[in-house]
Amino acid sequence: MESIFCVIDDKHVPLYRIMWVAAIPHFCGSPECQHEGDYEIRLEQGESVWANQQDRDAVLAAIEVWQGEMEPEEGDDEVP
Ligand SMILES: [Zn+2]
Repeated sequence: MESIFCVIDDKHVPLYRIMWVAAIPHFCGSPECQHEGDYEIRLEQGESVWANQQDRDAVLAAIEVWQGEMEPEEGDDEVP
């Protein structure tokens, strides 16, 4: 059983709280921005966490595994 949590930016985030994951690195041009080049991961209730590319890829992979467990293939698998 895979964990329902993934670690993002030193936080254990439940996968079901993730609304979307950025496809491109953050850039806003602000000199005070702490997250330039990081990938934004949006959570419920307007919160965000930030990940590097490696962590973002791990999050996406974890979500795919988790979704695969949530929605098993219906019927037509070829296992005898
Ligand atoms: Zn920014």
